[in-house]
Amino acid sequence: MIQEERMTRHLMDIIQIDSPSRKEKDVALKLEEEMKDLGAHCFYDNAGDKVGGNIGNLIVKLPGTKKDIPPFFLCSHMDTVSPGEGIKPSVEDGVMRSDGTTILGSDDKSGVSIIVEVLRTLKENNTPHPDIEVAFTICEEIGLLGAKFLDPSSFKSPYGIVLDSSTPERLVLRCPCSDIMDVKIHGVEAHSGLCPENGISALEILSDAISKMKLGRIDHETTANIGKVKGGSAINIVPGLVEVKAEARSHDEGKLDAQTQHMRDCFLEAAKSRELLLDGERLGARAEIEIERVYPVMNVSPQATVTKLVLEASSNLDHDIQLHTSGGGCDANFINEKGIECVNLGTGMYELHTVNEYLLLDEFRRSAEIVLETIKLHSEKN
Ligand SMILES: [Zn+2]
Repeated sequence: MIQEERMTRHLMDIIQIDSPSRKEKDVALKLEEEMKDLGAHCFYDNAGDKVGGNIGNLIVKLPGTKKDIPPFFLCSHMDTVSPGEGIKPSVEDGVMRSDGTTILGSDDKSGVSIIVEVLRTLKENNTPHPDIEVAFTICEEIGLLGAKFLDPSSFKSPYGIVLDSSTPERLVLRCPCSDIMDVKIHGVEAHSGLCPENGISALEILSDAISKMKLGRIDHETTANIGKVKGGSAINIVPGLVEVKAEARSHDEGKLDAQTQHMRDCFLEAAKSRELLLDGERLGARAEIEIERVYPVMNVSPQATVTKLVLEASSNLDHDIQLHTSGGGCDANFINEKGIECVNLGTGMYELHTVNEYLLLDEFRRSAEIVLETIKLHSEKN
């Protein structure tokens, strides 16, 4: 009943509407129109104002034919990464690609088109279904910001599906929480040829800190990285300032707290140990550290109702699916925290965030079939 050709055409259309983060308006307006044609009620929340974007999250409510059962929730993000403007998608042998100069944007418009196709299919076949609540989110790619500012009071669904991962052969139940650290190490500048002893090198402090820091894979569910370093002013000046961007992730909040604390301590200790006496004045180094928990942990139980529904739907369709733990966050991290229990189903997209990104149409269709079957089961069991 899912029409692969129609959903592929829909995806080609919306991929050609540019929608970098904070500029999702054009694609949102098109989706709003399509949803209204199906008889859905649409509105935008104020997430756009909060993130400085040109539109908020598009919230869609498709009235159900079964009124006495809980609504079902679906979500995909509308924004894309760069280079993602002027995308020219084409299909060959069941694979959709860009022309190689941009990303494809199937992340996450394949999820958007799956939702549209599922709603159209429910509608045109008069399939009994509950109210469907959809969030087409903004700014996922810049820190899950649309989902972060989603207002949970807009929704009544107990659970649902986020469509934003690679293959529908995997159902993501767990995603880590993450901290980012902005660190400024202040040393003391001095001429490196004339009077190096009058300076404290911020770069040496950083090296000292890193040499004592646990980084990379910390354990099976925790990772840490120093991703960016900027500093120094000239080749002959002892560097007085070094700026560092670092992150840590874990599937366990306690472990993340501990890792972030450890990294913080390494920076502070290394800075504290350096000082010098200059003309009777004591000069010291210092580290300024800002830490932000960018998103909370996602940990849906294999026994959760929504997990069991998706597994049963897949089995009804003779489709193999494995429960999966991901290393990155997604909108579902925030949506679970807000009380809608969500799993993340793959859509058939690969090599995301590169110009080699591609979509397997067979998996794309199967993902839509799983969503449709899950909604039918939810409907039957309630
Ligand atoms: Zn995505």
